[in-house]
Amino acid sequence: MVREELQEVVLKGMAIKTETVIWTAGVRAHKFYGSIPGIETDKRGRVSVDDFLRVKGDDRLFIIGDGAGTMYSGMAQTAIHDGKAAAENIIRSINGVALKIYRPKQPYYALPVGQRWAAAIVGALHIYGYAGWILRRVADMRYFLTILPLIKAIRVFQEGKSICEVCDMCAPDPPPE
Ligand SMILES: Cc1cc2nc3c(=O)[nH]c(=O)nc-3n(C[C@H](O)[C@H](O)[C@H](O)COP(=O)(O)OP(=O)(O)OC[C@H]3O[C@@H](n4cnc5c(N)ncnc54)[C@H](O)[C@@H]3O)c2cc1C
Repeated sequence: MVREELQEVVLKGMAIKTETVIWTAGVRAHKFYGSIPGIETDKRGRVSVDDFLRVKGDDRLFIIGDGAGTMYSGMAQTAIHDGKAAAENIIRSINGVALKIYRPKQPYYALPVGQRWAAAIVGALHIYGYAGWILRRVADMRYFLTILPLIKAIRVFQEGKSICEVCDMCAPDPPPE
């Protein structure tokens, strides 16, 4: 998909009239990883890691997040979990302490489908519908509070969109005189 209009999806060389778009494309890591000599990648292009989240075969390099071939990679929650695990192991290696084995952490899934309906999967608990939607909203608010002051977090929560503070760098160019 290269461009989305209000009532059509424009693909390479064709346009499809629709008001409903369901994206089912898979995700692959960037080919950059596979291009590095000596680095082993899996079939999704992710870097193979050892028990400590280091690149297999190179104990000087850690890899985290979407690029790491771990059980739950592809989720922001995993990237954050990985970051903490790698940071702890880097400190341990600087201090000459034995490294800690990396334990993958199952993320929570809360997938909104349109307005006021979501599928929430928290371990063995599967909640669908409005209750799932409420859980998603609660999760959103918890996250907003970790990165925004209270008033802004409430605004983003109520408006359901991000607040972009425009600086000189990304402000639109003034119209030509
Ligand atoms: C539409 C969408 C919705 C999602 N929703 C959720 C969700 O609800 N919950 C969830 O847990 N996860 C979600 N994810 C997945 C989540 O965004 C990723 O798993 C997470 O961002 C991975 O983090 P990362 O640090 O590995 O990579 P990224 O967040 O992709 O960070 C990589 C960074 O590297 C930078 N970069 C790339 N190339 C270079 C270069 N050559 N030089 C310098 N910098 C470079 C990029 O600009 C980027 O900032 C979603 C993803 C998408 C696309």
